[in-house]
Amino acid sequence: MRTLFHNAKIYSMQSEDSVWAAMLVENGEVKELFSETPELADVQKIDLNGKYIYPGFIDTHTHSFEGGLYSLGADLNSAQTIAQVKQILAETKPVSGLIFAYQLDERKLAEERFPTIAELDAIFPDTPVLLRRIDGHSCVINTAAASKIEWQEKLPANFNGLLNKRWNDVAATWFHNQVDAAGIWQAYEKAAQIGLKSGHTAIHTMIGDGNSDPQHCEMIFANSERFGLEFIPYPQITDVEMAVKLKSPRIGGCILADGSFGSHTAAVKQAYTDNPESKGNLYHSDEFWLKLIEKAHAHDLQIAIHCIGDRAIEQILTCYEKVQNADFKNLNHQIIHAELTSDTMLDRIKNSGVSLAMQPMFDRLWAGKAGMYEKLLGKQRTSHTNRLASIFKRNILVTGGSDWYVTPLDAIGGIQAAVNIHNVDERISPYHALEMYTTNAARLSSDEGRIGVLKTNSQADFVVTDQDILHSHNIGKIKIEQVYKKGKKLI
Ligand SMILES: [Zn+2]
Ligand SMILES: [Zn+2]
Repeated sequence: MRTLFHNAKIYSMQSEDSVWAAMLVENGEVKELFSETPELADVQKIDLNGKYIYPGFIDTHTHSFEGGLYSLGADLNSAQTIAQVKQILAETKPVSGLIFAYQLDERKLAEERFPTIAELDAIFPDTPVLLRRIDGHSCVINTAAASKIEWQEKLPANFNGLLNKRWNDVAATWFHNQVDAAGIWQAYEKAAQIGLKSGHTAIHTMIGDGNSDPQHCEMIFANSERFGLEFIPYPQITDVEMAVKLKSPRIGGCILADGSFGSHTAAVKQAYTDNPESKGNLYHSDEFWLKLIEKAHAHDLQIAIHCIGDRAIEQILTCYEKVQNADFKNLNHQIIHAELTSDTMLDRIKNSGVSLAMQPMFDRLWAGKAGMYEKLLGKQRTSHTNRLASIFKRNILVTGGSDWYVTPLDAIGGIQAAVNIHNVDERISPYHALEMYTTNAARLSSDEGRIGVLKTNSQADFVVTDQDILHSHNIGKIKIEQVYKKGKKLI
């Protein structure tokens, strides 16, 4: 069947001036774009009433299993006191016999502290509870969980429910591993629903515990058509052989070079402004990373690694440079997050063909006046965070992502944040911001031409919005009205 979508302003993203009035779709693909509505026989005509069409958004960095799972549990974002946290938890239904909660930000609570293990035990004496900090780098658990988890290292002597570093990972992994098959499907289905509603037709998703367990990778590879939205999986492991065995074109994800600013574990070159004793943590040695990167590069795998602080970015960049200098490949090795960078580092990133998978929403949340960055890093360094304009100026491949569950799965919110970066010198145009979530995102996974663009023979994946993203005074208010995947209306 042929369908003609007409009476719309269609931004193909082939170039900034590639704007059309009608689009012919056949067998799930775009056949032709028209500057005026053509007279065609044997077509179903869909009148879009002057609305706006863009390629379906692609979020290049999510933890969709966790995002879906936690969305089935409790969102603590609105809590302002410990009492409210307790109330939200008390009303939360378990998934696979476990209570999940996320978006816990102790800095936003009146008490400015985490709930204690005793407070959680009072509500849930028997059901394991996991409260994840907003950045995912700390969590709070109750006794029912602490007594069941097999700890690799003894819990700290002053343990009061709060965990960070490796304990945080062990606890989260234990919880995720307890989720049964029905719970896993439920989580991904929920994730797909949330993704589609916010205009995404593909999302890159990190799968596994960061070590050697790729968890649901095979399931996602085998069921790519099942969820409506396309999941692009990353085996979040450091075992190259296993990634090859999975036939994955890539390896990594939030495998951690360092931690996060909020937990003071991001590795920085100069000590934290609010803690002159600390420069954060590099989680692995240079030798560890070089060995992994050399091996993955030799197998033509795209590599993705979580780096927040400038010291961590430099550690990984140095390894990427070594393998690229020895044997340059267009694999688009990724630095995920890349929050704090110098000019020199950006030049090196460009020269070594490295790409950046970034989260504009981090700037929105943390870069403001007297925000977290300023408190932890000082004013000067804050101006060197999330440097989108400097990155575009160098023509580095940069893509947009939410790091969902860390920030909402919301490309429109990400575009708005990118256009309004706190440091005015680092703001980018709406068109560039849109590229981060469409064409650039498609290039990151070598899917250019298939998705992220509307042109002859591209997939007919597109969104219909009520206002024009490229000419709006309040991008954040723009509504996704319809979402099509391979020409089929899903929202
Ligand atoms: Zn990360
Ligand atoms: Zn992540």
